[in-house]
This record gives sequence, C-alpha cells and structure tokens, in this order.
Amino acid sequence: MPSYTPADLRNILLAGHAGSGKTTLAEAMLHKAGVIGKMGSVEEGNTVCDFEEEEKHHKHSLYTTIVHFEYEGKYFDVLDTPGTPDFIGQAFCAFPAVETCCLVIGADKGIGTMTRRLWRKTKSRNMPTMIVVNKMDDHIGDCEELLAQIRETFGPECLPANLPTPDGSDVVDLWEKTSGEVAFSSVEEAHTALVDQVVEVDEDLMATYLEQGQNLKPEQLHDAFEEALRQAHIVPVFFVSALTGAGLDKLMHALGNLCPSPEEGNPRPFLLQMEEGGEEKEWVPTPKADETFVGHIYKVTTDQFVGKLALMRVHQGTIKAGDQVYLNDGKKAVRVAHLYKVQGKEHTEVPEAIPGDNIALAKIEELHYDAVLHASTKLSNLRFKSVRMPVPMYGVAIEPKSRGDEAKINEAMAKLREEDPTFRVERVSATKQTVAHAMGELHLRVILERLHNRFKLDLVTEPPKVAYRETITAKAEGHHRHKKQTGGAGQFGEVFLRVEPWTPGEDDADQRLLFVDATVGGSVPRQFMPAIEKGVRQVLEHGAVAGYPISGVKVEVYDGKHHPVDSKEVAFVAAGKRAFIDAVSKAKPILLEPFVEVEVTAPASAMGDISADFSSKRGQVMDSQIIAGDQCVVKAKAPLSEMNNYSSQLKSITGGQGSYTMDYSHDERTPPNIQQEIIAAFEGHEDDD
Ligand code: GDP
Repeated sequence: MPSYTPADLRNILLAGHAGSGKTTLAEAMLHKAGVIGKMGSVEEGNTVCDFEEEEKHHKHSLYTTIVHFEYEGKYFDVLDTPGTPDFIGQAFCAFPAVETCCLVIGADKGIGTMTRRLWRKTKSRNMPTMIVVNKMDDHIGDCEELLAQIRETFGPECLPANLPTPDGSDVVDLWEKTSGEVAFSSVEEAHTALVDQVVEVDEDLMATYLEQGQNLKPEQLHDAFEEALRQAHIVPVFFVSALTGAGLDKLMHALGNLCPSPEEGNPRPFLLQMEEGGEEKEWVPTPKADETFVGHIYKVTTDQFVGKLALMRVHQGTIKAGDQVYLNDGKKAVRVAHLYKVQGKEHTEVPEAIPGDNIALAKIEELHYDAVLHASTKLSNLRFKSVRMPVPMYGVAIEPKSRGDEAKINEAMAKLREEDPTFRVERVSATKQTVAHAMGELHLRVILERLHNRFKLDLVTEPPKVAYRETITAKAEGHHRHKKQTGGAGQFGEVFLRVEPWTPGEDDADQRLLFVDATVGGSVPRQFMPAIEKGVRQVLEHGAVAGYPISGVKVEVYDGKHHPVDSKEVAFVAAGKRAFIDAVSKAKPILLEPFVEVEVTAPASAMGDISADFSSKRGQVMDSQIIAGDQCVVKAKAPLSEMNNYSSQLKSITGGQGSYTMDYSHDERTPPNIQQEIIAAFEGHEDDD
C-alpha cells in the first residue's frame, strides 16, 4: 500500500483563460512544496508543465499536464489545463480526474468568455469550484472591481476567502482573522459574510452561531464549509500572486484542508447496464482501496520516449503493476505491466495505485480516451458518463505534400484523434476532399506541427467546401437483393429495412444513426446483422443522395433472406448498403447546413459593429448586453461557412480587444434551389453489385 490513503489525496484542476497564470501557479506550488528549487518561467520555456515543443514555441499550455507534490501532509495532483478556446476540449477531458476546480482569473484581463464557459461546465458537472484571482502583485488596483464583477457574473455566493494587503505583497486570511489592513473592503465584514454563508448549510451550526455570535472557530466551520463547497452554496475567492508567491500558502492550505478528498467529492457519473440490451442505470463508485478496481482513461498521449501513455483516474479499488484487468465490455483483458506517477514530462514508476490516484499506463495500444478498466466481469457493461465535448467547427481540406504518404497520414491522424476528442477527419465524397475538423485555426496549426514534429509528415491545406449534411424528413422502406454468381460459390443476401428521422438523446448526442435489429424468426441469421450495419454505416460517411455525411436517421432491419451456402458477410454488407440508399432516397432527403453559436466579449464601443457584421453573414444576433468593466457580450448564430476567418475579422473590428467562443448550434435546411443543384451534381455510388 502507498503511504497515503484516499482521504489524504487532493485532486485539483487549474482552469481559466490563457495567460491567467495557471502554469506559473502550478510551478509556484511545486516550488512552495519543495519539489523544485527554482521556479521556471513560461517566457523561458522551462516550466515543469509546458514541456512539449509546440508549447514552448507558442508560449502557452496546449495540453493538460499533471504535477504532484506533498504539502502539509496532503498529496496533491494538480492538473494544469490549456486556456485558449481552441484547446478547451483538453480542459473538459480532465474534469473527471479531479474533485475540485480552481478557476484562475488574471487580475490584468478580468473575466473573459473562456472563464464564463468553464464556469458553466463546472456547474453542469456539479464540481466544487474555487476562484483564484492571480497577478495581484501588478494589479492590486484592479482587484476590488474584479471581485465585484465576479459576484455580478457568477453570483453572490462568490465570497472572498482572503483579501490582499494594501501593497499586494500578502493576504489576510478571512477564515482565521477578523481584523487587519487590506487593500479594499474590511476584514471584519468580509469574515462575517463568509461565515454567514457557510453556516446556512448546517442548521445546528447556525443555531450555535446565532447563540455565540462571531466566535465560531475555524475547526467548527470546517465540515459545513466542505458541504457548502460541494453544494456550490459557496464559491470562495482567493487572491494570489503566482509570481511573487503572495497568498500562495493560504491557497494551498485551503486546498489541502477545505477541498474534498476523493472520498468526499461529488459522485462520479458512471452508467451500468445490468444485462445485455437492458436499461442503463447510474452507478457510483465506492472510493475504497479494497473494492473491485475501476479506472477511467481521461487522456491518451504519445510520449517520444515512452510511446503511448494513457492517463487514468482510479475510482475504486487498487491496481498493482502486473495486474491483468478488463477493458470496457470485458471481452478483452489487458496486462498493466507498469504504473507511473507523472511530474510534467517525467514519469516515476510506482507499484500500485488507490482510489483518487491519477496515474499513467504505458504502451497499452488498446487504450483510448474514455475507456473504462475494471477487474470484474460483473462490471462489463460499465461506461463513464462522458463529458460533453465541444464539436470541432473549424475545417480545412487536407492533402499530403508528398504523394505516397496517404497511408502514413491516415495512421498518424488516427493516433492524434485518439488523443484529442475535439479533432476529427472525414472524407467528403461529394467534394472529394478530406477535411480535418478542429476547434480553431491555432488548434489545427498545432496538429499540423505535431504531425511534422512527431511523424515527419507534412500536409497542404485549403479552405473546405461547405460541409453540408444529408438527413431525411419522412419514413420510408428500402430493399435490396444482392446476388452474384461468378463460376464457383455465389454471393447472396437480401435486406428489407425501414428508416425514419431520429433525434439523439443526451447520452448518445454524438451518434448519427440508431441501428435496430427488428427481424423475427431468423430470417437473417444473427451473425450477418453486423455486416448489414457495416453496409449501412458505409453510406453514413459517403452519403446517399448528394455525397455528404448522413445524420439523424433510425434504421430498422425488419426482414431479409439468406442462402445456406452463398450467404457471406460481403453479400450482406452490399445488401445493407443498397437497401439503405434505397430507403433514404425515398424518405424525402434534405441537405442541412451547419450553424454555429458564437459568444463574443469585447469593449462595449464595438457592440454595434459586431452585431452588424453578424447580419452581413446571414447570422442573427440572439442577445447583446453591456456587462461590468465597460465590456459587451454579443451572442449570435451564423452559418459556419461564413465564420472561417472570424478570428482575424474580430481582431480588426475590435483592435485586438475581443475574444469569442464558437460552438455547434444546429443544422438549417439548405434553400431548395441550392439543394437541387448539389444533388444533380452528385455522381452517385460506385457499383458494388
Ligand atoms: P496560463 O496560460 O494560464 O498557464 O498562464 P501563464 O502561467 O503562462 O502566465 C501568463 C503570463 O502571466 C506569463 O508571462 C507569466 O509570467 C505571467 N504571470 C503569471 N502569474 C503572474 C503573477 O502572479 N503576476 C504577474 N505579474 N505576472 C504573472
């Protein structure tokens, strides 16, 4: 057993906008805990967290990095996440690994679009959150106004846990102290506000408080504070300077003493299907070392020395180096030869890991993002309720620079895709383009750099043609009989199926198709059903009527015929494909154009120009408001095809003062005349009969 228990662990996520100081803060914590003798700096590219070539080059965190240290008897894993909108997926992936999120806000820039977006995510994941206002050394004059903005934006439950001294060289802890000299507000008032808020979650404590007045001791408040944090009844705000170390000890003390351990954190959402085909039920792990082992892979990366590395959070039980465990549905067992604790780019081998541990597993090829590892066949149908990822909306068409690199590029892209759920590549038959979808220009540029640095492969890019999608608007039936006699054994398979429009639910939001076997009486032997599904899914990628990917369809195979000798997989793949194309073309197919939801934060004076620009893009402004700090927020919807260059357009509208996030919103029907032109231009499917 390790020298610690789950109760001694603290897993903390540092999230916030780029440049707020997360990497510097992680570095400062390592320094404070005595792990490093001298702090590195982001400018010099020598911090523990930013070690990848691309990170040093861009001087920003682009990937999530873990550091660990011991402080005041607690064992910390701190996850430093990237803060640019393009890399928000990396931050989201790391949420399942921790109990607490520290939302870091730089006092120089204030609350940005990213901070609001991350805040919404912490809320939706029910994650205890603290706000860390960084850079008080240089921006002491901005702190009071920023605190007011935080409370106005995120709610009155955001209350300072400490306040900076007048020169910003230290803080006064409002937990312990009831008086002292501070830069703004008053220690007494702020202390009372904090205690008032905390006691509200505990009736007995409230009664004691009312009797005793101001004299509650910090120890008496401890449990109520943790509960208030878990319920989001309080969001404590800490002032620090990662650069000078001011307030750092108070923050680290609070993280160790007031934040939940893995035993106390809010429950993790797993879903378990008790029997094949049955309903999935919520399942909550028990974070005890002697339970059956369950771990979740939340990040996969490739290290140039170690090879494939998967980061796993242990949710229950103990895993030892050398253990054989099951992967996902339990059909495959994998041997976990080595376990590593991660410190930036360094990995130290450890013999075992307990609930709450974040560890790395090396060289297990089968592991992928969101995989579940477990030690019991009873947990075979267990999956993690995934964090909803943003849909990558920035697309470019790609082609290998050197002919002959296609296969290598496909392989490399598949590796990068395993590491990054916000990146995907698809072949669009209609435009004959391979399109890489990323979160934004920077994200894509970094992927291309990775491809070059890691795989020595280069691509040429060009703007993609509009990414239409096909869907259906009515029910229809389709049929195909695939029969081939070529001398010897023949091929035979016949499929009848129905299609209807389908909207995915919350848990299968990323699915484009629901495939159902509705056959009875063995008209199609069970072993051929996967072949039919394979045929249907081939059409999904390449389209049925216009060559664009299909989504939003339910397929029910209700009948078919087979032949005892001539029925083969390939025959049912072909029959499934053709029957599906037949059904879709009868089901009033339409073409959809993707629209995005854009949220812009910029100086208030630019509000009119930003709105006018959306109107000129066939967009619609949904909401615009002036917010604290003489800023405005404009929310709009616009066709994706108009937004490819938005980062430079916004820069010129706002003189570089604006920021935005862009998310998939919905698909809108393409005007009928355009649709007809596109369908007429489609050259059809290769004949595989
Ligand atoms: P991240 O993108 O959130 O990880 O931010 P970084 O840690 O990379 O910091 C961005 C910039 O802010 C760097 O130039 C840091 O040196 C600077 N910085 C970070 N923390 C502080 C601080 O407490 N005070 C001041 N004055 N600068 C800071």
